[in-house]
Amino acid sequence: MNRLKRSAAYAWASPNTLLGILLALIVGRGTNQWVWVDGVLEISGPKLASWLNRPWGALSSITAITFGHAVLAQSREAHDSTRTHERIHVHQYERWGPAFIPAYLGASGYLWLRGRDCYRENPFEKEAYENEKGGV
Ligand SMILES: [Zn+2]
Repeated sequence: MNRLKRSAAYAWASPNTLLGILLALIVGRGTNQWVWVDGVLEISGPKLASWLNRPWGALSSITAITFGHAVLAQSREAHDSTRTHERIHVHQYERWGPAFIPAYLGASGYLWLRGRDCYRENPFEKEAYENEKGGV
């Protein structure tokens, strides 16, 4: 991707990135480790870990979660084990921009209302799981 397109992708996803950074600042309260990896800010730390490591609706815990170009995870090891999957979400944010979170939650809500698995059957998760198996 050329420099102009990369810049546009970062700008388009930036409201989500800002949300992730704010969440990490509030939840981590100064204990987080911030690492820049291949154009993505990877954030982890003990307070963030305990916040993610509790039930979230259909999930028993969250290992890592992506907001634009910021990924929040329980630890550096969690970043390493989820990087391929979370990078697919980064690309989804680059495509959807500010509409990503409403679209993701809307898809989950629709599935939940129909008695389906609102996480595994969510099309954004299906794309991420299918492509991580392919080693993208
Ligand atoms: Zn995912």
